[in-house]
Amino acid sequence: MSSVRVVARVRPLLKHELGKDIVVSAESLNDDDCTKSIIRVPNPKNDIESYSFQFSSVYEESVSQSELFEAEVAPTVKHLFNGYDTTIFSYGPTGTGKTHTMRGGKSLADRGVIPRLLSSIFRKCRTIEKKTNGETQVTVTMSYFEIYCDRVHDLFEPPEKRTPSGLAIRDNHGKSVVVGLKEITCGTLKEFDHLYDQANVNRSTSATKLNAHSSRSHAILCVKITQTTESTVLVSQASAIDLAGSEDNRRTDNNKERLVESSAINKSLFVLAQCVEAISKKQHRVPYRESKMTRILSLGQNNGMTLMILNLAPTRSYHLDTLSSLNFANRTKKIEVAEVENAPIYKALVKPLATSSLGATGGALNRQPLRP
Ligand code: ADP
Ligand code: MG
Repeated sequence: MSSVRVVARVRPLLKHELGKDIVVSAESLNDDDCTKSIIRVPNPKNDIESYSFQFSSVYEESVSQSELFEAEVAPTVKHLFNGYDTTIFSYGPTGTGKTHTMRGGKSLADRGVIPRLLSSIFRKCRTIEKKTNGETQVTVTMSYFEIYCDRVHDLFEPPEKRTPSGLAIRDNHGKSVVVGLKEITCGTLKEFDHLYDQANVNRSTSATKLNAHSSRSHAILCVKITQTTESTVLVSQASAIDLAGSEDNRRTDNNKERLVESSAINKSLFVLAQCVEAISKKQHRVPYRESKMTRILSLGQNNGMTLMILNLAPTRSYHLDTLSSLNFANRTKKIEVAEVENAPIYKALVKPLATSSLGATGGALNRQPLRP
């Protein structure tokens, strides 16, 4: 068993924020020979008093994309190739750096967690194939979808092809599978960049039609790695999620369409928080099924590692949203996740399984070894 790893990242001040009041600080405290990583925020009602929240790690504004990746994500690649699933998600109010952290900018230095992860995965594929003289073949397939107003849309499809009701989710051997989602095989980082950029254009094209909805939808990229030898198939999956903004939109929205969006976001993040709380208290019933996002994410049911990056903006204008996301994250880190290896599937028995049931899923791909 291991806990979900929750880390916090404070973004730098943006140009228009220079000179504004800063209320968030990332600190490392030495306490009884151990170092504690803390985010400190003042009490909104009394500045002299402050709240502190402890995390596995905290990253201050000067930390680069590369430093964050190397510290938090690079070590998980090895586990991924050993058959463990990984889930990485960014959580926080709109404007705090979730998309910057996950997707990042165009320049090499600005690239986010997702393109860096894919780069490491492709590198590892080549190493394995070389090491085994081509006996182990590795394929990387991916699907990318968003959940908007609790409806699932394929981001590898142009927006015109969307059905208003979205794609259905079905249970398949205990996993939640999105039905009809495109899965694309990808062999190089260049191919990935092209696919990912196009899909993000699909996402933002809808955004101009539907009120900047990229901050109001959850974007989920699933990368499936299949390692095949003459006798075995080993499948594992990395899911990377850029969640919708966690701010409470009810405070500011009065437009009807916005209210529908807001209630879907608030509901899915609320259910996420409830799941987190139920798992942390070891309650028997965890309400995964009450929103599509939690159903697909299956937090705490995953058989691998979960990394949550809490994104924070330093200024006072985010103060209340900052505190509510810190409270959320504080509960999340108590989740315990069983690490169960995805055992190799022995080919003779499971040919149909290997091709048909490996649909895109953010949930567990936990399989029992089937021996001939
Ligand atoms: P979100 O996805 O949470 O709404 P964004 O990722 O769009 O937030 O970030 C908001 C703004 O802050 C963007 O202009 C982004 O480039 C900038 N930003 C966020 N994090 C950083 C960072 N670590 N370094 C530099 N700029 C950042
Ligand atoms: Mg964003």
